[in-house]
Amino acid sequence: MSAIMMDGKALAADIKRDVKAKALSMEHPPTLALVLVGDDPASVTYVTHKRRDCADCGIRTVDYTLGAETTQEELLGLVAELNGRRDVDGILVQLPLPSHIHERTILEAIDPKKDVDAFHPFNVGRLMQFVPCYVPCTPAGIMALLRRYDIDPAGKECVIINRSNIVGKPLAMLLLQAGGTVTVCHSRTADLARRCRQADILIAAAGKAGLVTADMIKPGAVVVGVSMARDDAGHICGDFGPAVGDKASYLTPPTGGVGPMTRAMLMVNVLKAAENR
Ligand code: NAP
Repeated sequence: MSAIMMDGKALAADIKRDVKAKALSMEHPPTLALVLVGDDPASVTYVTHKRRDCADCGIRTVDYTLGAETTQEELLGLVAELNGRRDVDGILVQLPLPSHIHERTILEAIDPKKDVDAFHPFNVGRLMQFVPCYVPCTPAGIMALLRRYDIDPAGKECVIINRSNIVGKPLAMLLLQAGGTVTVCHSRTADLARRCRQADILIAAAGKAGLVTADMIKPGAVVVGVSMARDDAGHICGDFGPAVGDKASYLTPPTGGVGPMTRAMLMVNVLKAAENR
């Protein structure tokens, strides 16, 4: 058996097309404030991609590129200003922040209505109560990908390898809300292989190349990879070893799966913020 590849790139393009059509029909364009502090190369790249996605979708961006020496008070001042601006629908402060700035203090200062990353405790709490407002982009993208392939988590064993705030925890809530029975694994989980073998839907986001081997896959399982880990030859393989695709029914490709979906779901959240303005 060879798994069907789940094409996140194509679905993301469809979603972005829909966002653009709606954005262009609005009297005032949806507007995202993109805040970057410092010059971490990965963060600069992520912000560049987000700016480009916005341009593709008819979303206006206002950019704030601040020096690494920016103080927490200065950043809080900017967030307060953006919270108050009626022409700004969404605020995204790119993480990680320099170590002298307390990330949680900044994230909690963002108006929950403009919290398009969905990291504010208000939005996290809504998700816990199964009444989500904004949903974090990576888990939202994974759920949209499952829906596109008519994969219904209801009644299924869902195993997530990740317990972070941006992937594992919100995804667990979404799968639970969708009727799945959810197991959340992490670096302290005993006998990861046994838990993976129980999974009808396995989502791996450990960032460890080759962590999940073919013998850990239940035949016919749906297997979603989030991480961009590279093998010894430098190729992106995610968390999966070779031949996982021979056991799975559906599989995300190492690139063009969850990554583009994450980016598309940010556009969905900004549009939603503009519609709710
Ligand atoms: P993170 O905070 O480092 O989380 C990694 C998780 O994997 C942690 O829960 C960790 O357990 C667990 N883990 C690590 N080694 C493990 C092992 N040997 N066995 C079982 N669990 C293990 O990272 P993150 O921010 O959630 O991101 C996870 C990965 O996804 C990264 O590679 C990141 O680059 C990627 N990512 C991709 C996208 C995308 O759009 N494609 C979006 C977000 C993240 P502990 O909690 O015990 O440490």
